[in-house]
Amino acid sequence: MRLVPRAGFRRAFVTGIGGQNGSYLAERLAEWGVEVHGLVRSQQRPTHLPAGVRLHVGDVSDHDRVREVLREVRPNAVANLAAMSSVAASWKEPELCRAVNRDAALALLDAVEELSDERHPIRFVQASSAEMFGTPEVSPQDESTPIAPTSPYGEAKADVHRAVGEARARGLHASSLILYNHESPRRPRTFVTRKITSTVAAIVKGRADELVLGNLDARRDWGWAPDFVDAFLRAGSHDEPDDYVVATGQAHSVRDFVGSAFAAAGIADWESYVRVDESLLRPVDAVELVGDATRARTKLGWQPTKRFDQIVAAMVRHDLKLLSRP
Ligand code: GDP
Repeated sequence: MRLVPRAGFRRAFVTGIGGQNGSYLAERLAEWGVEVHGLVRSQQRPTHLPAGVRLHVGDVSDHDRVREVLREVRPNAVANLAAMSSVAASWKEPELCRAVNRDAALALLDAVEELSDERHPIRFVQASSAEMFGTPEVSPQDESTPIAPTSPYGEAKADVHRAVGEARARGLHASSLILYNHESPRRPRTFVTRKITSTVAAIVKGRADELVLGNLDARRDWGWAPDFVDAFLRAGSHDEPDDYVVATGQAHSVRDFVGSAFAAAGIADWESYVRVDESLLRPVDAVELVGDATRARTKLGWQPTKRFDQIVAAMVRHDLKLLSRP
């Protein structure tokens, strides 16, 4: 199903626009001819943003400032992508995680609901997370899987997910995308995928000796970030708001990822390069997160475009290229 912008959809406001998903979303919206506004914390322009994107300086935790920017921009659609994105970091800084991932999102949702009216409706799409399922007993998970978070990150995402459902019940066009892990060359190195691909590239180029990791047995449903951004556009454009699992439906272990990354770099015998450091294990870590995106497929016509090995290879290629620059 080809995706076209909704009639009258002229202006979008994106928080977290400097991040992986925000930059891909800004690119797609700009291609559509939508006027894109984003919130950034400093004057410094994030990399990867198309030239026409208009930036507003402010912190999502400054609720008054966010409300002021919203009044100024008067968007047709708001995507909330701002978050402390690392589950591991949320254990170290739970209060910051609550302030950014929960309180700021709730305040933004409130402001959108207040400003949205019949003459100028605003659509809202929230980046929610599979992490809110905690260590689920069912696999794969879908929109009806019990919410039982086990990390500060998951707790914050769960609270906002519920609030989005409540706002929808009150009549706001508000959707929540339950995102599984989504990767790309723009993924920060705090995530295991990019840590692996950047270190493998460094080993190949003789700039590193080993890859030090935590839990190699954890299994994740790793998708391609630009595909997940496509789901945002589809959810925001659909007549009915809803909750959607966005996932490929295929889980792989961290060990599989490591093997594929070394293979993509031409190294078959990788075990001697990898060391496990117990300090990188987490207090609680879901053994397997894998999503059933049937609703997104049937209602939104969404589907992933890249397979696991293609994602890994694209990231390794990018990291090798970065290290080949003079
Ligand atoms: P998350 O699923 O959103 O937390 O994404 P991450 O990429 O941070 O972690 C994915 C999985 O990789 C988790 O189960 C981690 O425990 C596991 N993992 C193993 N070693 C590492 C490591 O060195 N760094 C990170 N970030 N995760 C690791």
